[in-house]
Amino acid sequence: MYAMKVSDRVYLLDTYAIGVPGTVGAYLVKGPKPALVDCGYASSYENVLAGLAEAGVKPSEVRYVIPTHVHLDHGGAAGRLLREMPNAEVFAHERGVPHLVDPTRLVESSTRVFGKAIMDLYGAPEPVPADRITAVGKEAHLDLGDGVTITMMHSPGHAPHQISLMLDGTKALLTADAVGIVYPGMKALIPTTPPPSFNPSELVATIGTLRQTTPSELLVPHFGTRKDVQWVFDKTAELVLKWVDEVKVLWKQKMTLDQAAEEMEKGVTRDAGMGDLPIYAKVSVRTSVMGIMHYLDKNA
Ligand SMILES: [Zn+2]
Repeated sequence: MYAMKVSDRVYLLDTYAIGVPGTVGAYLVKGPKPALVDCGYASSYENVLAGLAEAGVKPSEVRYVIPTHVHLDHGGAAGRLLREMPNAEVFAHERGVPHLVDPTRLVESSTRVFGKAIMDLYGAPEPVPADRITAVGKEAHLDLGDGVTITMMHSPGHAPHQISLMLDGTKALLTADAVGIVYPGMKALIPTTPPPSFNPSELVATIGTLRQTTPSELLVPHFGTRKDVQWVFDKTAELVLKWVDEVKVLWKQKMTLDQAAEEMEKGVTRDAGMGDLPIYAKVSVRTSVMGIMHYLDKNA
């Protein structure tokens, strides 16, 4: 199943990232002018099209494509999908737009983070034509018709160019990676603190800003809908700061990334109540530890 109905208007699309279900989601908001929020990896674009089909939306009907940020699991497939969506325009934060138009530097930095073999699995993003993009600043509004409106809000911290989206009617909040990862069937929350631009104080400030919008539920890319809004906000803010403190100790001990990641996995495994973490959860932990170490290298 590629599309799961969240509400009358909203579908969660499972992009089956590198074949794994329940890890990287996108959201479809239906209306006279449907909006696709996030796109998955470049290599997942056919799964997104399958999700749209299941949700009853033709690619030519999609009017808005909104990568919440340019990381490859969110914006990777945007360029490829636009070729199938002749009537769609892209909305993205102004600081992300240059990377959508020319993904060269994004691919270089992602290859440094993940390695060439993994990058081949994720797929290389195609450029998005500049004349199809509208840049978003601090806040912007979209009208999907039939009374469906969306507020796009700058939500930095995970990345400086990230936006989160509020569905104004139901107050469902599309968080992007402003909140931590909770994989289906795993109780543990993993902070989303990747390189190269994670900033802890901005991330915690963003949690405060999003909290003030009083969402009724959270639509999280990794992965699924959450009604326990306060728990997710509380746990994200708590664990981001805790992880920075804990990784700082390991960083001062001159641990390697792999050693530090293994240390941090222990707490996640305990919280998850599991004997061993699935590989994709280990990758998430390692990426977040890498982002914190990178932040410490630059700022401590
Ligand atoms: Zn992500």
